[in-house]
Amino acid sequence: MTTTVPHVDATIAATRAGSVELEGVTKRFGAVTAVDDLSLAVEAGEFLSLLGPSGCGKTTTLRLLAGFEEADAGVIRVAGVDVAGVPAYRRDVNTVFQHYALFPHLTVAENVAFGLRQRKVGRDETRARVGAALEMVRMSALAGRRPRQLSGGQQQRVALARALVNRPALLLLDEPLGALDRKLRQDMQIELKLLQAEVGTTFVYVTHDQEEALSMSDRIAVMLDGRIQQLADPDRIYDDPRTAFVAGFIGAQNFLPGTARGDGRQVAGDGYAVVGGRVRDGVIPGGPALAAVRPESVEVLARDPGPGPNVLPGTLAGVAHLGDVLQYVVRGPGDRELLSRRPRQDAPRLEVGAPVWCRWTVDAMTVFGADQVGLVLQEAP
Ligand code: ATP
Repeated sequence: MTTTVPHVDATIAATRAGSVELEGVTKRFGAVTAVDDLSLAVEAGEFLSLLGPSGCGKTTTLRLLAGFEEADAGVIRVAGVDVAGVPAYRRDVNTVFQHYALFPHLTVAENVAFGLRQRKVGRDETRARVGAALEMVRMSALAGRRPRQLSGGQQQRVALARALVNRPALLLLDEPLGALDRKLRQDMQIELKLLQAEVGTTFVYVTHDQEEALSMSDRIAVMLDGRIQQLADPDRIYDDPRTAFVAGFIGAQNFLPGTARGDGRQVAGDGYAVVGGRVRDGVIPGGPALAAVRPESVEVLARDPGPGPNVLPGTLAGVAHLGDVLQYVVRGPGDRELLSRRPRQDAPRLEVGAPVWCRWTVDAMTVFGADQVGLVLQEAP
């Protein structure tokens, strides 16, 4: 499948984008607090992803916005309107789920028209809007087919058209690409982002897939235990994680536990001492700390580069091809594994079993506090 910029007809582009505000929202199920005093503002026209591990409260947050659940506390506003007590069908919101729930006995066009018919939109307008919506998701040629005659990706496009044809102020998407294979998912990610930019509808997108969130979102809210750990644009989430959980959940990370020394920038572990350029809240000199550096910031050298900060000796334990990148696994001090990733064309050719030295800059390393240590070692994938 090739990716093309979607064509957005004026009938769809007339969509209004709505802002979303959650203020101190809590939702409990018995003893479980699924969403815990959560505050979040989504701008009109923004593509915001809720990202986090299973059970962190993403779907519950989405269901609260959709009106499938009512909050125990807090205020939710969609396009400036407090939606407390407003049933799902009266909210200016549409939802696209992982399982597309298309009507099997209706054609593609009838599926897309369904919401408009319910709302008694006139025949001509319905025809025009359905035609435009199908064109937008490149499904016009298959308008007469039934869902079982479509591939998973095609069905998901119909589900999107069916949602967008209603011109909601807010579109909620709950792992909509989760059932697709990897290649199709990647193509659809690009398409969906282009579509959102063209249509201008506010998207709140739930995923546990960090790659998906990084590639599509204007901003990402990383969630854990019903709360937001960090809300920022993808670059900041990746380059400047505020917590060790975010550092470990997004992308690959080398974590080096130890004891904070000096002003907290130094971490002394089992056979190593490293230095970080950034120190997060909660680092107490003399207390436990966790130093983190990304694999792409770690060089692997065949010769001892001499004294310097963040040079650790080790043995090359393995090399793996990750497409355009080579990944080295180095067994370092205290038998600790360190990962290094280098673009293939610049990657040194090294023998497995050979002595090597890992090196990275002070700026590439961040030091997190003790309260984070247990968290990341338990929960990071
Ligand atoms: P996943 O990625 O697995 O879908 P999630 O981040 O979307 O997870 P939620 O589905 O929002 O998480 O669930 C948050 C917490 O609330 C979990 O502990 C879950 O078991 C609990 N929960 C959600 N819905 C209900 C319910 N209807 N009854 C009881 N507990 C629930």
